[in-house]
Amino acid sequence: MTPVQSLQRKAVAEITAEPPRFQVFTERHLERIPQIARLPEADRFAMRVVAKVLPFRVNRYVLDELIDWSAVPDDPLFRLVFPQAGMLAETDFAAVADALRKDDAAGLAATVAEVRRRLNPHPAGQQELNVPRLDGEALPGIQHKYRETVLFFPSQGQVCHSYCTFCFRWAQFIGDKTLRFSAREAEHLHRYLQAHPAVSDLLVTGGDPMVMKTSHLAAYLEPLLAPEFAHVQTVRIGTKSLSFWPQRYVSDADADDLLRLLEKLVRGGKHVALMAHVNHWRELETPVVREAIRRLRDAGVVIRTQAPLLNHINNDPAVWARLWREQVALGLVPYYLFVERDTGARQYFEVPLARAWQVYREAMQQVSGLARTARGPSMSAGPGKVEVQGVTEIGGEKVFVLRFVQARNPDWVQRPFFARYDEQASWLDQLEPAFGEAKFFFQDEYEAMCRGEIPPRVMG
Ligand SMILES: *Cc1c(COP(=O)(O)O)cnc(C)c1O
Repeated sequence: MTPVQSLQRKAVAEITAEPPRFQVFTERHLERIPQIARLPEADRFAMRVVAKVLPFRVNRYVLDELIDWSAVPDDPLFRLVFPQAGMLAETDFAAVADALRKDDAAGLAATVAEVRRRLNPHPAGQQELNVPRLDGEALPGIQHKYRETVLFFPSQGQVCHSYCTFCFRWAQFIGDKTLRFSAREAEHLHRYLQAHPAVSDLLVTGGDPMVMKTSHLAAYLEPLLAPEFAHVQTVRIGTKSLSFWPQRYVSDADADDLLRLLEKLVRGGKHVALMAHVNHWRELETPVVREAIRRLRDAGVVIRTQAPLLNHINNDPAVWARLWREQVALGLVPYYLFVERDTGARQYFEVPLARAWQVYREAMQQVSGLARTARGPSMSAGPGKVEVQGVTEIGGEKVFVLRFVQARNPDWVQRPFFARYDEQASWLDQLEPAFGEAKFFFQDEYEAMCRGEIPPRVMG
């Protein structure tokens, strides 16, 4: 065979090879996952208990290509998707385990519902404060918290290829329809954007919008090329698919259509940003994720990355330094390091703010300037995104230096403020103002917003 023939044969083999099929396992199929069947019964029972409360869903690619089964249960990718006993408080775990053993469906359902209520399913006042109105009508699939950026939750995009155990949107995956944000129609979105010329960014999120067919995404996004949407300069798509199902960009039936759609938006003058959720550098190692990145970049898409700092998964400056370095090498732009939110299995994943800052700082110190674009550690709290800038001593008092990187009132952004140092605190609501002050500078105004006395000004 000549070299040309050999190349042709290889190309034909690639084209005719069956593309990997998307196959998913949920709580009901936990025991049917071959790798799980080999684990001890006690571990499998613990997983079943936790999976009654928190959503569970994993696909074959994550099972076969990302998890290192020789390192289970410590493997970070295993902990990213599989429920662990420590993800529930001991008493809650015992109650659910007890109900499960009794084989009493009604008792189990009641216990599960009670445990879920204790896990703060709606952090940061998302449902109450962020849902906008148009001509008096509430638009439940849209959130508008910060003036420049509108979040859109397309109804077909409210699941993910796999669920992350730490997910702050866990409540919308457990089948409770009242917790689900979803838009029935593109029309609401387009009308809202047209009525709000201050909005420069549309952030399509979920769930994961990349579970949608390209034709559905196109119905939302292509109309934005019309002149009346010229103010919407940036289309961001929040997704975990780049690392959990990179085949979406490579071999799915409508992968090529998807890339053509994104390229069309770019050619039409939009900045298209894929906001890729990447928790660990191990997610970026497979040939298929590399190919997905190459194809997206060829289409003119900018890939920005974000993820929370998580105990048991990436609570280590070396992991972040390597994650950011590899991202820069692949042409990705590190964007945010988040503090794990105060919801769901937070006690398993939470890291004190003081430690979060240490991890961020030590990671930053190990990377070049191009990898120092990640802001953080950032808390997405009720009043806004609050970054821990550091720990220092002022006038003999040890303090956290904080600032808003985003806020419900744009005037709060970039004003430094101070909280009394607290080694254990892991969220904004556990912090006290420094220097004996009674309140943080934004507190009265924020509370008035919560009481409905001040209209949500960003939507004006
Ligand atoms: C983070 C976030 C945004 C985007 O903020 P940027 O600083 O522009 O990245 C928008 N809306 C909400 C509710 C957010 O949490």
